[in-house]
Amino acid sequence: MPTEMSKVIDCEATNCVYNKDRKCHTLAITVGDEKEAACDTFFQARNKGGFVNINGGVGACKVSDCEYNDSFECTASGIHVITHSNHADCGTFQPRE
Ligand code: SF4
Ligand code: SF4
Repeated sequence: MPTEMSKVIDCEATNCVYNKDRKCHTLAITVGDEKEAACDTFFQARNKGGFVNINGGVGACKVSDCEYNDSFECTASGIHVITHSNHADCGTFQPRE
C-alpha cells in the first residue's frame, strides 16, 4: 500500500484554473467517473488559482479498471494529464489485462 500521494507530473490543460507552466497547482485532484479517466477537478475561470509552490497530487481516482487503481486510489508514482476532446484525461491510465 503506497504511503505517498501520486503526483501530477505534468498537465497539458493550460486552460485550467490550476494549470501554470503545464504543472498542476491544486493540492489534490479527483480522477474519473467509473467510465472515463478525466480530471474531475478541471475547470475554467477568469483568474488562475491554486498555489504556485504546490505540485498537485491524485487525491482519489474512481477508475477501477485501471491497472494502477487499488481501492479507488492511484498507486502510480506519478501521472501525466493530457487533453482529449476538449477535456483533461489521465494519460497514465492503463486498462487491466
Ligand atoms: S491536473 Fe486537472 S486540475 Fe490539475 S491543472 Fe490539469 S486539468 Fe487542472
Ligand atoms: S493512473 Fe489509473 S489509477 Fe492513477 S489516476 Fe490515472 S486512471 Fe486513476
